[in-house]
Amino acid sequence: MSTVDTAAFRPLLEQERERIVSQIAHLHDDNSRSMEDELGELTGRGLDNHLGDMASVTFERELDEGLEEGAQQTLAQIDRALAKRDDGTYGTCERCGKGIGEERLRARPWATLCIDDQRLVDRG
Ligand SMILES: [Zn+2]
Repeated sequence: MSTVDTAAFRPLLEQERERIVSQIAHLHDDNSRSMEDELGELTGRGLDNHLGDMASVTFERELDEGLEEGAQQTLAQIDRALAKRDDGTYGTCERCGKGIGEERLRARPWATLCIDDQRLVDRG
């Protein structure tokens, strides 16, 4: 396997970072509106199934919070990958020190573990 051209991944990481940051900003916009505003809006539209609306607003809120948590985690990983890129260890597994592999990095440019170690971590 040829050495990974890490320079090629920097724009990918930065692109992904931008996307996640705007996603988080967007989630914050949504969450800054109060529940009453959202319900008021639904009522204003003349919907009469208020209980159903209440449930769906609550559900969307929980979904947003879950999404934000996931987005924050990915953002933290991207920042870590960028830092590794700067200190020259990008593309190297944090646990075993082996190469992560170009194919895996193309799919997940922020990966900091090789596929084997990632599986071990995911398993807990
Ligand atoms: Zn590894």
